[in-house]
Amino acid sequence: MSHLFDVYPLYDIEPVKARGSYLWDQHGTEYLDLYGGHAVISVGHCHPYYVDMLTRQLNAISFYSNSVKISLQEELAEKLGELSGYPDYRLFLCNSGAEANENALKLASFHNGRTKVISFTKSFHGRTAGAVAATDNLSIVAPVNYNKHVTFLPFNDVDSAENGITDEVCAVIVEGIQGVGGIQVCSDEFLQTLRRKCDETGAILILDSVQCGYGRTGKFFSHQFSGIDPDIISMAKGMGNGFPIGGILISPKFKASYGLLGTTFGGNHLACAAGVAVLDIMKNENLIGNAAEIGDYLMDGIKEIGGYKELRGRGLMIGIEFDFPVKDLRNKLLFEHKMFTGVAGTSTIRLLPSLALGKKEADMFLEALRKEVSVTSL
Ligand code: PLP
Repeated sequence: MSHLFDVYPLYDIEPVKARGSYLWDQHGTEYLDLYGGHAVISVGHCHPYYVDMLTRQLNAISFYSNSVKISLQEELAEKLGELSGYPDYRLFLCNSGAEANENALKLASFHNGRTKVISFTKSFHGRTAGAVAATDNLSIVAPVNYNKHVTFLPFNDVDSAENGITDEVCAVIVEGIQGVGGIQVCSDEFLQTLRRKCDETGAILILDSVQCGYGRTGKFFSHQFSGIDPDIISMAKGMGNGFPIGGILISPKFKASYGLLGTTFGGNHLACAAGVAVLDIMKNENLIGNAAEIGDYLMDGIKEIGGYKELRGRGLMIGIEFDFPVKDLRNKLLFEHKMFTGVAGTSTIRLLPSLALGKKEADMFLEALRKEVSVTSL
């Protein structure tokens, strides 16, 4: 009998080994992983460089507190600044996406002394008090009314943003591409309006890049397609390829002071080793370019197969919405074709594979999808 607090429906599959884009269960059955545990596996499972770097770090020192110098943190900040195109932003490290958003909201409030937050319909920012307050319900129900400071505007609606962002607003928090909300891409005009309104009113623009960041979309951050620079960028998921690590990139306009933000585990040696290994692999293997290329290849293949209601996304962040619930289709993909996929809502299949996904694996998915979609439309 399980002694766990039962909050997740579970597949009766236990992955015991993984390499690249593949997983094996306890019976030795091989699965293609097109989901990466909610976009976490960025450079592929058990990449030898990553394993080696973590192993060496584990044998050196795994943890000490932020009261001492940790050169790996500086290395991570420098490499992240360079690869992401934000070399003059400062990095604060924490342990998860929700925690990154909490710190972003806190920093915004310290900066302008305001409390009102603007978020958007169908957004998801995490499950801690502040992050859940800025989340538009979805399946998450906050037990008390944390939301009293948050106003939800319609996603991608330029006019509402134009009117709703006033000089009382502390922060505007938005995902460049909504993940849990169904792979909805921000239009350029929408993001540019948010940037301009924040400049006009003194509100802080936070781009939650926890899911749509870290090279997945073919640029380091998805908002870079729209040519805007946020004040704060939150990150997690792919940042550690499975080792828990999160952070915020902070524009030079914020002034740091002792005690402003804090953490026990954030920026620990092992997490930083994982973070540095991920960035090295992304750079050395041109994984951002690969995400763009294989993403386009998958999108073209899916378009050719057809049978869906809408296809959305960028790079290797893809949502295929059908006009029927996708539970059976996903079960077929998992149990017959041995492929892990994700879901958003009830009718959108969500693909968030490793950025190192190859053409061969993309073809395997397309072949399975073709077969199942043609069966469904008979
Ligand atoms: N923000 C976004 C856009 C997310 O997709 C998620 C998780 O799915 C979070 C924040 C919360 O991240 P975490 O579960 O690491 O706290």
